Amino acid sequence: AERNPGQPEFLQAVTEVMESLWPFIAEHPKYAEHSLLERLVEPERVVMFRVSWVDDHGTVRVNRGYRIQLSMAIGPYKGGIRFHPSVNLSVLKFLAFEQTFKNALTTLPMGGGKGGADFDPKGKSPGEVMRFCQAFVSELFRHVGSDTDVPAGDIGVGGREVGFMAGMTKKLSNRADCVFTGKGLSFGGSLIRPEATGYGTVYFAEEMLKTRGMSFQGLRVSVSGSGNVAQYAVEKAMALGAKVVTVSDSSGTIVDEDGFSPEKLAILMDVKNHHFGRVSDYAQRTGAHFEAGKRPWHVPVDVALPCATQNELDANDAATLIANGVKCVAEGANMPSTIEAATAFENAGVLFGPGKASNAGGVATSGLEMSQNALRLSWPRDEVDGRLLQIMQGIHAACVRHGRRADGTVSYVDGANIAGFVKVADAMLAQGVI
Ligand code: NDP
Repeated sequence: AERNPGQPEFLQAVTEVMESLWPFIAEHPKYAEHSLLERLVEPERVVMFRVSWVDDHGTVRVNRGYRIQLSMAIGPYKGGIRFHPSVNLSVLKFLAFEQTFKNALTTLPMGGGKGGADFDPKGKSPGEVMRFCQAFVSELFRHVGSDTDVPAGDIGVGGREVGFMAGMTKKLSNRADCVFTGKGLSFGGSLIRPEATGYGTVYFAEEMLKTRGMSFQGLRVSVSGSGNVAQYAVEKAMALGAKVVTVSDSSGTIVDEDGFSPEKLAILMDVKNHHFGRVSDYAQRTGAHFEAGKRPWHVPVDVALPCATQNELDANDAATLIANGVKCVAEGANMPSTIEAATAFENAGVLFGPGKASNAGGVATSGLEMSQNALRLSWPRDEVDGRLLQIMQGIHAACVRHGRRADGTVSYVDGANIAGFVKVADAMLAQGVI
């Protein structure tokens, strides 16, 4: 804590991982050597930079940009770019730390990184968003490269923003190598990448449910958020026969007791992706029930999929969900549950999939995009989706293998942390003190 003052999210993420690792390291003392843990919590490089740009009124605006290059032990730094006013060093270091273990879990050769800016895309014109992206990447481009650091999207950064950043990177570097993932299909993007995080979260939850002889068929599901991850989590859960009863954003929650349908989801996507609107706008358009300022966790469900942002589900929310009989929680977002909430789920015997395992499908498919770019090929939809499903099943199996408790039950939190750690740690030990 003294080394990282004012970084509560980073300390929270490190604490959660270390609690899983202590007993494991006590049994495997080689991982306590060579200051391995001390090195892992110190990013290899942090870049912070000024981003100045001109808004539609001709006013010069200044934001702060970041790239955290946490670990290259198993491959180029890899992780998304977030544009949100809450972005700061603590949030990005927590995300880069989580990302390092998550990327290891995918089994693909990707190190860990994360970046972003405290820029708020809400209410900005398309021209302003483009100018901001170009200003941001005019510094970032010198720190990235297809064998160095490969950024992607995250909150506030979707296909449009990745396109603007990839375009400017190409112009500045005079190289066509596809540095970003999450690109459009016409310039090196992969089929299934937009769907991958949401689909992958549902695939992971399905594997967890299978261990108790259940499937999504007929279950009630709540989803939080209504962005990229949430939309495709809704789509896949519906396709597997679930009744999805909520979506949300920072304006409030939609509660739909009839359940979402493909038609309703298409309207939500239009509101969110084409009009950059709120779920309150969706409620206005469709007459759906809208609860201003509320989160979805008071609604009784069998499966909860938090897909919005960090710390959006606390101990009280967990207690409510447990009292209402929740069976499975799979995190689509990064660290949406507080440590207390995650512990409450595990203690109550709820199947609990931590984000670094359950939402790894996005970065896994980014890894597949990198493979296709390197091969200069693009694989068909079914091939990418099939590989995604296999990877999620593989991550589930690794969590079960490393997370099995003495009483035979499974802690997916411990399993994910230990499985990810072992791969990164072995790579670090083999490569010496660097
Ligand atoms: P989007 O920007 O598409 O959507 C974010 C959603 O979360 C929106 O509904 C947004 O609501 C809500 N949200 C964001 N910040 C807050 C906040 N502070 N309070 C309340 N609601 C908030 O982002 P993504 O769907 O890409 O990302 C969602 C989560 O999934 C993040 O935690 C991200 O790190 C994680 N993730 C994303 C991956 C990806 O492939 N995109 C991969 C793995 C993890 P509003 O519009 O009102 O802000």
